[in-house]
Amino acid sequence: MGAGREVAIGIGDQIIATGLAKGAWAKRGKKVAFGPHGRIIWDKHSELIFRDNPNICYPGNEAHQKVEWVDFYKGNRGYNRKGNGHWIWNMDWRCEPGEVRLSHGELAAGERRGKGFIVIEPGVVRWKSSAQNKDWGFHRYQAVADKLIDAGHQVVQFTHPEAGQILSGVKTMQTYNFRDALAILRNAKLYVGSEGGMHHGAAAMGVAGVVVFGGFIPPSVTGYDMHTNIAGSDTFCGSFTACSHCKEAMANISVETVFSAAMERLSG
Ligand SMILES: [Zn+2]
Repeated sequence: MGAGREVAIGIGDQIIATGLAKGAWAKRGKKVAFGPHGRIIWDKHSELIFRDNPNICYPGNEAHQKVEWVDFYKGNRGYNRKGNGHWIWNMDWRCEPGEVRLSHGELAAGERRGKGFIVIEPGVVRWKSSAQNKDWGFHRYQAVADKLIDAGHQVVQFTHPEAGQILSGVKTMQTYNFRDALAILRNAKLYVGSEGGMHHGAAAMGVAGVVVFGGFIPPSVTGYDMHTNIAGSDTFCGSFTACSHCKEAMANISVETVFSAAMERLSG
């Protein structure tokens, strides 16, 4: 789940794309064109995340730039494919941390919000029927937040018009779009939350994280080595609908597990 006026659908995919494009310009003098050969396909969040990225070819420029075509676009993400009622995960897929080129103004605005706090993101994208499978549960995040606050840490939750429930005791920070959220997040000492746009964002900003995966998607596929990724199951169903296995997987992840992973990250 992202932070922005828009519902952050597929923000994570845009950030994964920036990881695929990394180094294209500096190393090979090329720009990456995302789409089937000859046709760039962006979706409504592509520009927000790709802005000022020298590795990525903007639609319309493909004819007069040196481009590398990469088959990664809405409806064709290499990390999964549609099975019968569930995603089939590509177990060979790995995510490289992406990059988002924030402007001086965006960076300065982020710095004005302070640093050294923990960002906690208990929300998941609610419109997706599979979202419940990624939801660890608000009450568990509240318990982790309480313990982190008791341990003397400042805990921040981003708010925006589509934000879900706000944890009690945390400091809220209003964000205006996902870039704005990243500008704040980059000064955090830790991200704790669900698998989604914000965990991809934390990786892109080089921020340590504790990411609650559950049983829906394998941490090896959309997780990052730089984060502590917590699964609650050995099997990852990818179910399009709310699933009892995923519910059980989430219940297998205790508050203590997430809290101690966070404390370990903070001390390391
Ligand atoms: Zn499941």
